Amino acid sequence: VEANGRAVFDSDGNATRLSGILQDVTDDYQIQQRKDEFISVASHELKTPITTLNASMQILQRLMKTDPTSDKVPMFINKANNNLNKLVRLLDDLLNVTRIQQGQLALNKTMFNLVDLIQDCTDHVRMNGEHEVILSGDNELMIYADYRRIDQVLVNLVNNAVKYAPQSKNIEIDISHTANFVTVSVRDHGIGINPDKLPHLFDRYYRVDALGHQFSGLGLGLYISSEIIGRHGGQIGVESQRGEGSRFWFTLPINEEEEV
Ligand code: ADP
Repeated sequence: VEANGRAVFDSDGNATRLSGILQDVTDDYQIQQRKDEFISVASHELKTPITTLNASMQILQRLMKTDPTSDKVPMFINKANNNLNKLVRLLDDLLNVTRIQQGQLALNKTMFNLVDLIQDCTDHVRMNGEHEVILSGDNELMIYADYRRIDQVLVNLVNNAVKYAPQSKNIEIDISHTANFVTVSVRDHGIGINPDKLPHLFDRYYRVDALGHQFSGLGLGLYISSEIIGRHGGQIGVESQRGEGSRFWFTLPINEEEEV
């Protein structure tokens, strides 16, 4: 791109256009490469729950014929159900991406206490896993936003904090505000992220070391979250160090007028 900038045909406009095209080609190439990786990741991510679901159904069918009162029946129903839910969540993310790209991610705003939403979400994490969630900051913060979408952002950040911190149990959530904005931050003490990867984190399909990933996921959660926060007129960001954990944060306007 720089070489084109130094081209002899300096003032005729073509040189500028040419450098623009080269830039686009590089971006297109990167997106194409990520799409290829994404298809391979997505196929794998969909296949795992389908395979488990399929196996559970076969076992259930057999049990219903041979031993319908077995205590294995509820266990396999549960397993099938969990995997079905996993599939629904994966498909929801894929549908969300399509909606975002078609500009159809509708917001349904109401007034609610953000702290209640955060408490519900953290209760869920406490019930489901071994992670300890520590809440600090404000205990009431009314905002005008889409409850379900903000919940989705929080669930994404908290699930990532759980997923990418398998060895370390504490997750700290802090809620603060200024006159016009609230800030929510989710801190984990997990694997962390190399600083050079941070600029790409909120890109569609992006996963650190995509193909060598030992964690499940589609690389869409942060992209969807950043779109949701952006649509609300807020900002989302991260501070992280490899090996030391991450702190993801987002802001939201308190006043309706901040809406974009
Ligand atoms: P995924 O489904 O892969 O988790 P996300 O969009 O939620 O997709 O995150 C994108 C990538 O950012 C992840 O694949 C992971 O590499 C990195 N990442 C996200 N959250 C964390 C975290 N809390 N700690 C370390 N890495 C993270």
